[in-house]
Amino acid sequence: MPVLSGFLNAKLGKMWKAGEQLLPTSVWMLSTYQQGALALELPELIQLVKLVWKSKHSLQGTKRKGISESEEALPTTLPLRTEAVPFIHTRMSTANSGEIGTKKKVKRLLSFQRYFHASRLLRGIVPQTSLHLLDGDYLGQASHMLSKVGTWSFDMFLFDRLTNGNSLVTLLCHLFNVHGLIEHFQLDMVKLHRFLVTVQEDYHSQNPYHNAMHAADVTQAMHCYLKEPKLARFLTPLETFLALMAAAAHDVDHPGVNQPFLIKTKHHLASLYQNVSVLENHHWRSTVGMLRESGLLSHLPVEMTQVIEQQLGSLILATDISRQNEFLGRFKSHLDNDDLCLQDADHRHFMLQIALKCADICNPCRVWGMSKQWGERVCEEFYRQGDVERQFDLEISPMCNQQTDSVPGIQIGFITYIVEPLFNEWTRFTESSVLTESMMCHLRNNKVKWRGLLHKQHHNGEENEQLSEVS
Ligand SMILES: [Zn+2]
Repeated sequence: MPVLSGFLNAKLGKMWKAGEQLLPTSVWMLSTYQQGALALELPELIQLVKLVWKSKHSLQGTKRKGISESEEALPTTLPLRTEAVPFIHTRMSTANSGEIGTKKKVKRLLSFQRYFHASRLLRGIVPQTSLHLLDGDYLGQASHMLSKVGTWSFDMFLFDRLTNGNSLVTLLCHLFNVHGLIEHFQLDMVKLHRFLVTVQEDYHSQNPYHNAMHAADVTQAMHCYLKEPKLARFLTPLETFLALMAAAAHDVDHPGVNQPFLIKTKHHLASLYQNVSVLENHHWRSTVGMLRESGLLSHLPVEMTQVIEQQLGSLILATDISRQNEFLGRFKSHLDNDDLCLQDADHRHFMLQIALKCADICNPCRVWGMSKQWGERVCEEFYRQGDVERQFDLEISPMCNQQTDSVPGIQIGFITYIVEPLFNEWTRFTESSVLTESMMCHLRNNKVKWRGLLHKQHHNGEENEQLSEVS
């Protein structure tokens, strides 16, 4: 019997429901929004594609739930994790795979989501869950939000709900339009849409954190950074295209566990990439595969697509957090020596790498309500990994033990050692732009709030100890 069969049968594939709050009343009371504004903004061809999907969908008798219908069912707190584990597809083998120092052995953890769902579109299978369809009632509200897509307070949780979980596709279509990329690169809208749907679907919706909404959030942040006065005037359309594409795809097919987990469970991708930036290499290669499959760039010269693929890789690989010091050191050195020359393409590329790194870890710089949700989600994902490690007698990874690693503690460490050092340098680069000042203000406030929660937890813990001693 495969070692993990019970684990697979009982638990894999459970959908995690986010603990979003209900929609604010003010949003529902908006009566002045323009119905169809977004639809008018997207090319007619896309509308045609939507209609085709819609008719197919209704023929199949599948009812898509609107927000108002599912509102009552939405939990207001994070769900219990007893039934939830990372969605790592495992193909068990009884063949010897070597000792990994455990009583129970995880034999082999094979491929992620993509290999099970690859080429669905090419095989002519209609996707069931991620159609780019906006219910009419929410179209106007989503459109209203898109008109403010460049503001730092943009609420991706709300936007994702208004777009029925299609935040990534909707956002990217919009941003490609806004930046004039469709026209500039003569992109085929059907191919673009198909590519974006494939990317969105390759994110694991059951991951609390590394899902398509995180990708959309990073892309929105990237859009804000691309508008920074220090950077914006130097960027070429190709660089804008690369920056948005890399942000959208930077975590695609993330399994919800980290690289050390893949290495210690001898995942084939770990050996494929020789234990170096395993996940990031996979995100990049998956993106390239989807790009080629979609034919989105097939009309461009081969040399150009090669450059695009290579630079996408360079950007995505920069998000490997274990390379933080390498990038931070170089960034500091440029700022200390005042030798960043943004007329130089290599320097611009480096700044796009830095911008993507900032966008990827900018959660603590958002307003508290959103920042807290992201913080809880990422810890939830860590804890799930810890649960699997505990279950299979693997050493529990740092920050993955819910019994000893608290959310506020993890967040304060993350802010202190990762976020602040990078954003302090970003502040120098942008010369304290309006956006940067706002982000740093949130960052300081959020750290204070996490500290308050940590203090409260300690206090409650001590009280409980005293109570148990008395009893
Ligand atoms: Zn990410």
